[in-house]
Amino acid sequence: MKNNQSDRKKSSIPFRLNRKSFLGVMSLVYQELLDKVLTKINIKLPKEDEVLNLVRKKAKQNDPESILRVIDSYAYKKTFLMNIGDEKGFILERAIIDSNASNILELGVYLGYSTIRILKNLKNDSKLTSIESNKKFANIALEHIKLAGLSERHELKIGKSNDVIPNLKEKYDFIFIDHWKDLYLKDLKTLESYNLIKKDAWIFADNVILFNLEDYLKYVRSSPNYESKFIPTKREYSKFHPDGVEISIYKA
Ligand code: CA
Repeated sequence: MKNNQSDRKKSSIPFRLNRKSFLGVMSLVYQELLDKVLTKINIKLPKEDEVLNLVRKKAKQNDPESILRVIDSYAYKKTFLMNIGDEKGFILERAIIDSNASNILELGVYLGYSTIRILKNLKNDSKLTSIESNKKFANIALEHIKLAGLSERHELKIGKSNDVIPNLKEKYDFIFIDHWKDLYLKDLKTLESYNLIKKDAWIFADNVILFNLEDYLKYVRSSPNYESKFIPTKREYSKFHPDGVEISIYKA
């Protein structure tokens, strides 16, 4: 634990750059910084508050699609949002259905966009547990999910994944990983060591090309415990920056 904490302190950003997607990351870093500056000098509200206000104003209650549409439209027209986006969102929804998952775990919620995409495809007897470390984002997500009418089979745990995961009690058959990029591999190994992954569970990891996740990819592709496949895509809200998702089936 001590080593991990000191490793984290060495780097001020939660990811390493990937040469293949340098421009894709730079364009979103630029948008993040611009938004921070405009917020700081009170020209606009933080983008997450703007999104919540728009959802409150424009989305229809109990209509998940209308909420996703408002969020996508903001991300396409105004500024980048670190949601999974529409293109990869459909791949996630397809995977939830095809996996026939009944107990799902989500690492990284942000504004609840992927949470809504998962929840609207749950089978009758299924449920989702999500972990988000940022309290403000978690509260915005909870309001989005409630507005979508999808709160019933959802539980959101606010805290750092490495604090929350060791206290989980159930096994999961679908794990969606989309939080801090330097935690993907570490948290997957923690889930394994606490025996929280069911046999044949699907592990769905986002942004494996946009960011440098070579260590994660090497692990799931070379371990005999996983059957792993890569799906190439574009980065969320971009027509040309490369990205992709990795789906790994746990065989142990
Ligand atoms: Ca993502």
